Amino acid sequence: MSERYADIIIDISHEKLDRAFQYRVPERLRGRLEVGMCVAVPFGNGNTRRLGYCVGLGEECRFDPSRIKDVLEIEEKAVDAQDRMIALAAFIRRNYGGTMIQALKTVLPAKRAVKPLARRWVERLLGREELISLKGACERRRQGAKARLLEALSRQEEIPYQWITGKLGVSSATVKSLEREGVLRVVSVSEYRNPVRVSGQEGGLLSLSEGQRYIVEEFLRDYEAGQRGVYLIHGVTGSGKTEVYMRLIEEVVARGRQAIMLIPEIALTYQTLLRFYRRFGDRVSVMNSTLSPGEKYDQCERAKHGEIDVIIGPRSALFTPFPDLGLIVMDEEHEGSYKSESTPKYHAREVAREAARQSGASLVLGSATPSLEAYYRAKRGEYRLFTLDERLTGGTLPKVHIADLRAELKAGNRSIFSRRLQELLGDRLLKGQQSMLFLNRRGYAGFVSCRACGHVMKCPHCDVSLSEHQGGRLICHYCGYQKPKPETCPDCGSKYIMGFKAGTQQIEEKLKELFPGVRCLRMDGDTTKKKDSYERILAAFGGGEADVLIGTQMIVKGHDFPNVTLVGVLAADLSLGAHDFRCGERTFQLLTQAVGRAGRGELFGEAVIQTYQPEHYAVIYAAAQDYGGFYGEELLYREMSGYPPVSHMLAVQVYGKSEDCAKQLAKRLSDMVKSIEGDGGSRGVQVIGPAPASIGRINDVFRFVFYVKHGKYAELVQVKDALEEGLRLMPPGGESVQFDFDPMNTI
Ligand code: ADP
Ligand code: ZN
Ligand code: ZN
Repeated sequence: MSERYADIIIDISHEKLDRAFQYRVPERLRGRLEVGMCVAVPFGNGNTRRLGYCVGLGEECRFDPSRIKDVLEIEEKAVDAQDRMIALAAFIRRNYGGTMIQALKTVLPAKRAVKPLARRWVERLLGREELISLKGACERRRQGAKARLLEALSRQEEIPYQWITGKLGVSSATVKSLEREGVLRVVSVSEYRNPVRVSGQEGGLLSLSEGQRYIVEEFLRDYEAGQRGVYLIHGVTGSGKTEVYMRLIEEVVARGRQAIMLIPEIALTYQTLLRFYRRFGDRVSVMNSTLSPGEKYDQCERAKHGEIDVIIGPRSALFTPFPDLGLIVMDEEHEGSYKSESTPKYHAREVAREAARQSGASLVLGSATPSLEAYYRAKRGEYRLFTLDERLTGGTLPKVHIADLRAELKAGNRSIFSRRLQELLGDRLLKGQQSMLFLNRRGYAGFVSCRACGHVMKCPHCDVSLSEHQGGRLICHYCGYQKPKPETCPDCGSKYIMGFKAGTQQIEEKLKELFPGVRCLRMDGDTTKKKDSYERILAAFGGGEADVLIGTQMIVKGHDFPNVTLVGVLAADLSLGAHDFRCGERTFQLLTQAVGRAGRGELFGEAVIQTYQPEHYAVIYAAAQDYGGFYGEELLYREMSGYPPVSHMLAVQVYGKSEDCAKQLAKRLSDMVKSIEGDGGSRGVQVIGPAPASIGRINDVFRFVFYVKHGKYAELVQVKDALEEGLRLMPPGGESVQFDFDPMNTI
């Protein structure tokens, strides 16, 4: 390519990101200048020489040709942290599509808030024992919030205010009343401070288990020999992975380099953070979605200036601009949240690998149920595989029962609880032990349909079934459309129109019918809408405020509950039913995690998996907690059907207000891919579709999708490039196109 005009963003640290200036590319630079490169340009009235980044190239001059200026030269200066981020943005754009500006916005933090916010935290004024006895008194008076704060203060001398009102769910009024009672003091300063200051480090106190020591030693041997690699630690929860991560980080930091610790947002609990704060003190910071853009920017500045060595956070923490990054750790690497759901739809695992490569850092992945991708590469020798199979927290694997719901119905049991689950629930209530009931969907009742004619109540805008909520309202979970539930079927007039599958609220009601007086907590998309209510519910359950916790996938994560001895999975089939090649994997992960929640303490645990498909391999291997067995069977399926990780798949998604135009564009683009194949002869690209997306319309936007498959990822990148080029030459009307490589979810 030798385009004649370049879009340049001037000096990213000062200018607004979304403003690019067009320059002419002089003859001598044509074909050499690439998107992502740093260039020198004349800027402003005085034509001051400034540095900028090329974010786009093209043939069309969008500026007065007589006044357009020339790019002076390509700047080949030393790579600093910011330039590494630019290079990473270029990698993301190349591999996942979208514009350079979108990629830059992904990797660079927004600008600083004008005024740094005041920091506030709470200091305890009483000793540990006094706090614990006060906490007991509060618990007896059922003052849950007070008790939670006292409990936290008994472990921690200082707690940031935002943690208290956020994660702990304690109101400012409660804090004030404790302040009046002389229990604590609220302190604030105006300069930036680390969220938590921790007294008494506990570094290096544990002596590592044999398995842990082996990993640390092997890693260090490579590291000292200058070998940087990718490592996968496969270990059940409680096998000591986090302890290993902390050791590795310590070692790397001791060598003067920095580390990024990635944790899915939902698993980023207060307890986990405290462990890191205790170990690394002031030198660690956290990045999460509750931080304002200004605060995120501050974290990046602190990282750049060497004020911190470690950052903990979800996907976006990957873009912390450390001067000398030495290690990236990615816990729970199988988590879907590591894939961005908006353009550029990058996967943090792949971008982390590139970031590590650019910085000469190592990458450590960890999971109790590794993704097929990671395990496949480990098996092929691309990653080094370590296994930790001993639970250091004690506890034994639970005994798992599979309840066949078809048989239940035959036996006349029409309840949502199988007989086995009813019996075990009753037993736990008698013994005063806790149970968890897990349902992998949210809402009151699934879709509403007519039992007489089969008519399904659907959203008029989104083409998905509506969910019934309390008060008899039907709600669309995509666009929020709602209407009252009709008395009779709009189609045939029958009055047998009703919910089909249970939601968490209905389970709670049924449970209370079955066991009057049972104390329940419910956790789902509705009860956790408020910021940090997630943590609050878990804390309440951990504090013994309920006998049963009912919830969606959210409850399978989080901290240990030693008193939970029973887990019920109400309908394992729901996640198997998704039209998606990953549904077996997701089901296996969810079931394994759910089952593993029982028996974390001294007490023996049991689990009941209810399903209409007791013979499905994901169900069977999850019940047996057999990852290897599952992997073997799942990989066979992926191999036979040509799905990732064996093959690769690019989803091309077309969105448009006009159904016809969107459909035609999808057709045009898929034909283009087919013709590329024809041109090149035996490139072996396979095109599937186009077809309306599984949800064909959301908010009156029509969605079409087609899939391109090939064994080599690079081929698919070329397909994407060709499509982007085609779209540039023949821009569509109102439609937009998005690319999703090796998609995690179907649209
Ligand atoms: P994972 O991350 O695999 O779930 P953790 O590192 O959190 O495992 O360890 C689980 C528990 O075991 C934690 O309470 C941790 O403090 C403890 N633990 C970890 N390593 C050791 C060790 N070598 N000796 C004793 N306890 C350990
Ligand atoms: Zn009907
Ligand atoms: Zn809708």
